[in-house]
Amino acid sequence: IVYLGAKPIFIDSELETWNICPTVLEEAIKNRIANGKKPKAIIGVHLYGMPFQVDAVRAVADKYEIPLVEDSAEALGSTFKSKKCGTFGDISILSFNGNKIITTSGGGAIVTKTLEQKNKAVFLSTQARDNAPHYQHSEIGYNYRMSNICAGIGRGQMEVLDKHIGLRRKMHEFYLDLFKDIPGVAVFNEPNEDYFSNHWLSCISIDSSKTNGVTSEVMRLAFEKENIECRPLWKPMHLQPVFKDCLYFGNDVAENLFTNGLCLPSGSNLTDLDRNRISNMVKSLFGI
Ligand SMILES: *Cc1c(COP(=O)(O)O)cnc(C)c1O
Repeated sequence: IVYLGAKPIFIDSELETWNICPTVLEEAIKNRIANGKKPKAIIGVHLYGMPFQVDAVRAVADKYEIPLVEDSAEALGSTFKSKKCGTFGDISILSFNGNKIITTSGGGAIVTKTLEQKNKAVFLSTQARDNAPHYQHSEIGYNYRMSNICAGIGRGQMEVLDKHIGLRRKMHEFYLDLFKDIPGVAVFNEPNEDYFSNHWLSCISIDSSKTNGVTSEVMRLAFEKENIECRPLWKPMHLQPVFKDCLYFGNDVAENLFTNGLCLPSGSNLTDLDRNRISNMVKSLFGI
């Protein structure tokens, strides 16, 4: 957004999927239109692999005729109403960065609806070369192509995608079971059967009024002491210092999630031994 010289406007999350809130989104669009600045695009993100409220967000995009860009970087293999994430945007993106559910070490993919969009994306990502025998440029492009070696790794990785989704979802089941009798700890879960998350990361939110004072930070530090890495949820973009002057619409839902949430060990390579260590740690922390 910023590279293009456009200005991001940040929209709060909702509590069902932790993603863009369609109600706040519509308020923000109305406000900007009233100010004579209709937004050029909506970006929806499926965080931690959980689909955003696809129908509701799509309805707002359609009502105001604003294109929807779908950030499916974390949601390869997730579905909403049995349809794959990465197919809901006017344009969608996937990431194959090293930390994603499959990887090409770096890089990603763009999913378009038309051949024209695809050709333009390829043109811009390969230095915007004009169709001429010599090197000629009428537009500024980028060097964003994926190397053929990385792409080869990606083709191999596609064969293990289903296995990785299974392993991530198994971690999620493990946490559902581990926390089921611990009051004040809620495992981040699909709101209903329309949603199927790849559970790329397993997360919890903690209500410390019900946990005898165990906050997400107390828990993170207890894990760290056992050499087990947990992380806070993603810091909301409107709280990033670099975006301090940007507009934000909302009611601090994302901010509260950031304060009370935690990302737990979720890797596809965790073993029963690792799960035992996590389980023992949690049980001793909560005295059960
Ligand atoms: C990883 C990620 C990106 C960026 O992908 P890169 O391939 O690292 O550029 C964008 N959006 C979300 C939500 C991500 O998780």
